[in-house]
Amino acid sequence: DALDRLDAEISRCRLCPRLVAWREEVAATKRAAFRDQTYWGRPVPGFGPHDARIAILGLAPAAHGGNRTGRIFTGDRSGDVLFAALHRAGLANQPTSTDRDDGLTLTDTRIFAAVRCAPPDNKPTPQERDTCAPFLHREMRLIRPHLRVVIALGGFAWAAFWPALRAVYGVAPARKVPFGHGVLWQSEEPAEGAPALLGCYHVSQQNTFTGRLTPGMLDEILARAKALAGA
Ligand code: SF4
Repeated sequence: DALDRLDAEISRCRLCPRLVAWREEVAATKRAAFRDQTYWGRPVPGFGPHDARIAILGLAPAAHGGNRTGRIFTGDRSGDVLFAALHRAGLANQPTSTDRDDGLTLTDTRIFAAVRCAPPDNKPTPQERDTCAPFLHREMRLIRPHLRVVIALGGFAWAAFWPALRAVYGVAPARKVPFGHGVLWQSEEPAEGAPALLGCYHVSQQNTFTGRLTPGMLDEILARAKALAGA
């Protein structure tokens, strides 16, 4: 269907020269632990059912995670934390995700990223963010009929949501809503059908190893998202 076609189109994109060079260099040089594997080395499309009511919006694929396995959050520590929580919440059929053939399926949840290629230092430039934004907008337009809530993992994803909201729903909040863990934004005009936005600290090691984001905090966010989505 249209979303499969978009996924395929995203996987072939070469619009950002710096990111194309980086993703391919990482794929060619590899991390020692994965030297026997063939890296994906391309943009990473969204993952999850097309009629999901919950979307999880990340920053970008990890160099040796999604950029290696070809599936978002798959094969890295961030994904370990995220998929374990999704499993506890009943939104994933298994708690782990190692590669694209590991049998993982999600329930009512679609995961995608604001930028689809792994960036050096996990930091896309504003230009790369803007170049990739139409893919997010197109994906949100395609899942719009069912989408009820977006969980933004971190401030970068939070910031990427607003242009998508404007492009897809024609909705813009009257004033800026700053990112924060647990911050909820909902449209004052429910007739527009705009999804709610829920902020969550990113599941990066930087946050999970330091205890800034605990499994319990993640469970709470997913429980709220399920309630908002009627899931
Ligand atoms: Fe294309 Fe997005 Fe990758 Fe840039 S980041 S090359 S726009 S898929």
